[in-house]
Amino acid sequence: MTDYPNTQLLIDGEWRGGAEGRTIDVLDPATDEVVGTVAHATKPDLDEALKAAKLGFATWSGVSAYERSKIMRKAADNLRANADAIARMMTFEQGKPLAEAKGETLAGADVIDWFAEEARRTYGQIIPARAPGVMQMAIKLPVGPVAAFTPWNFPINQVVRKLSAALAAGCSIIVKAPEETPASPAALIQAFVDAGVPKGVIGLVYGVPADISEYLIPHPVIRKITFTGSTPVGKMLSALAGQHMKRATMELGGHAPAIVFDDANLDVATKVLAMSKFRNAGQVCVSPTRFLVQEKAYDKFVADFTAMASAIKVGNGFDKDTQMGPLANERRIPAIDALVNDARERGAEVTTGGERIGNVGNFYQPTVVAGAAVDSRIMNEEPFGPVAIINRFKDLDEVIEEANRLPFGLASYAFTGSQATADALGRQVEAGMTTINHNGLALPEVPFGGIKDSGHGTEGGSEAIEAYLATKFVTQASI
Ligand code: NAD
Repeated sequence: MTDYPNTQLLIDGEWRGGAEGRTIDVLDPATDEVVGTVAHATKPDLDEALKAAKLGFATWSGVSAYERSKIMRKAADNLRANADAIARMMTFEQGKPLAEAKGETLAGADVIDWFAEEARRTYGQIIPARAPGVMQMAIKLPVGPVAAFTPWNFPINQVVRKLSAALAAGCSIIVKAPEETPASPAALIQAFVDAGVPKGVIGLVYGVPADISEYLIPHPVIRKITFTGSTPVGKMLSALAGQHMKRATMELGGHAPAIVFDDANLDVATKVLAMSKFRNAGQVCVSPTRFLVQEKAYDKFVADFTAMASAIKVGNGFDKDTQMGPLANERRIPAIDALVNDARERGAEVTTGGERIGNVGNFYQPTVVAGAAVDSRIMNEEPFGPVAIINRFKDLDEVIEEANRLPFGLASYAFTGSQATADALGRQVEAGMTTINHNGLALPEVPFGGIKDSGHGTEGGSEAIEAYLATKFVTQASI
C-alpha cells in the first residue's frame, strides 16, 4: 500500500471523475506496479472546462493585480508547506530521487513568487501625442483563456511556469497535465485552489493528449497555447495554433553542446557537467548532450567523466543514497538502446553503461559514448536519457560549426579559461541559453527558451509574462 492518491479532473472548481468514468493506471517506474489511477477527460468534460474557463477569465481579469499577487503568494506558501508530501507523489509517479522531487517542488514555489511580483508590474506606456489635448496609451491586457500542455519529466516545474505566468497576467487556464505523472501537478493546483483562486480560473484535465489538443487549440474560447515536449509534436501543435491564429509558446527538444577547451578548469567542468547530465536521468530538455572536448584535454576528460558516470548510484528514488532513478517511461529504454547501439555499430566506444539494469523498473545505466560518428543517430536525435556523447575538436571555429550544426538551439554549455573565447561563444553559439564555467540555467528571473527547432518564447525572466498579455492602444482627445 502506498500513500499515492488517485487523481481527478478539476472542472469549474470541482474535483471529479471524467463524464465517461474512464481512468488510466499510473505506474511506479521503479517497480512497474500500479500505484493509482488518473481520470480521463472526454469531449463533454472539455466543453465544461471551456465554459468554466470563459467565466473564470471574466472573474480573474477583473481581480486587481495587487489581489492576484497576494493570492499567488499564498499558493507558493501552501506549496512549500506541502512539499514533503508532494515530493513523495512525484517520486512514486516519475521515479526521480526524493531530494530532487522536493527541490523541484520548492523551486516551483519560487517561480510562483516571481510571477506574483511580475503581476504588479505589467506596465504599459504613455506615448507623446502629435496634437495638444490628445492622450496616447499602450495598455497591457490579459490575452484570454490559455490551454497549456505539459510533459512528465518535471511534473511541477513544467506546469508552474505556465500557470503562474497566466494567472499573474489575469488569464484563466486549462492545463492538460501528463497522464504518466498526474498527482504532483494536481497537488500544485490544489495549492492555488486553497489560496483562494476562484472556480473556473484553473481547469485541470488528463486523457488522450492528441484528442485534447485537437479540441482545445481550435476552440474559440482559447486564445493562447503553450506547450512543452518534443519538436515533432510542437511543430504539429504550432501549425494548428497558426491555422486558428492563436498565439503560442513552444518549449521543445534540444541537443545541447557542452564545449570544454584545453584552458578550462577540467575538474570543475567534469563535475558540473556530470551533475547536469545525469540529473533526472538525463530526461531534461536542457541536458548537456554533445560533449565537445578540445584535443589536449580529451583523454583526461573522457577518463574522469567515465569514472564519475560509473560511480553514480542508480536505484529507487526513495532509497536515500540513490543519485539517479529510473527512466519515467518504459518506452524510453528501447529508444535509448537503439541510439547507443547505432553509435556502437558506427565505431563509437561505449566507455561505461549502455545497458538496461535488471528487468524490473525502467533502470538504465549512466552511459558514456566516446567518438561517435557525426552521422550516427545519437549525434542528431535528442537521446533524452542518461547518455553523454564525447567527441574531440581542434579549435574555436570548428567547435562553433559543430555546436550550430543541428536544427536545435535550446541550451549550451562551455568551459574555458579565456575571456575572449567566452565572449565569442556567448555571441556565436546558436542557442536560447549559454552557460559558461558553471550551470546557471533555469532560475525564475532569467530567460528560459529556445530558438530554431527548439521553439520560441521564454518561460522565465521579465519577458515571460508578455506571452500572456496583449498590448492595446487607447487614445483619447480631451473632452
Ligand atoms: P512524445 O513526443 O510522444 O510526447 C512528448 C510530450 O508531448 C508528452 O508529454 C505527451 O503527452 C505530449 N503529446 C504528445 N502528443 C501530443 C499531442 N498530439 N497533443 C498534445 N500533447 C501531446 O514523446 P515521449 O515519449 O513522451 O517523450 C520523448 C520525447 O519527448 C523526448 O525525446 C523529448 O524530445 C521530448 N520531451 C521533451 C520535454 C521537454 O522538456 N522539452 C519533456 C518531455 C519529453
